[in-house]
Amino acid sequence: MCKNINSPYAHSFANNTDFKIRHRQIFSGIILHQMNSVSYERVCTVCNKNDETLEHIFLTCPICEVFIARVQNLLTDNCKLSSKDFTDWDWTWLFGFSHKKGGINTTLINILLSIARHTIFIARNYALFEDVQINRWLFFTSMVKSHLRLLKDAFKATFQETFLANSSLCELDQSGELMLLF
Ligand SMILES: [Zn+2]
Repeated sequence: MCKNINSPYAHSFANNTDFKIRHRQIFSGIILHQMNSVSYERVCTVCNKNDETLEHIFLTCPICEVFIARVQNLLTDNCKLSSKDFTDWDWTWLFGFSHKKGGINTTLINILLSIARHTIFIARNYALFEDVQINRWLFFTSMVKSHLRLLKDAFKATFQETFLANSSLCELDQSGELMLLF
């Protein structure tokens, strides 16, 4: 589990969010309300339906479930994830794959999942603190694309084997440029 968090491939902002999730350092609505009941409600500002706990923010908020399902589809369609990889989905969604698994690129998938969690957190912060709705899918795909481009430049020699194996999210063209296919 800690291996993921110290991965040299992780996105630094997303990695910070993961650290907060793992150490339960996210100030949920319930905690904020306990600290300052005048300024903060217990209820989730994303869905306005349920009390906001850490689990609600990242797993069960109905607005986020749509986004989570879309990420799942992306992984199924492009990263060879199958239904058996989803058996412990809540855990995988929150923490990523802690061990390599044959036939799937867990390095790439862990990067995607980490950025997806970060997306949920940023969207929730915009809703809570700015009363602004952001487009999660656009935020997520933009961040994944820019991070993969950065990794391609940083890990030129091993990029293909490390990040492109068993996935169809992107490919290198003949001149070595990264083509993103999603
Ligand atoms: Zn909610």
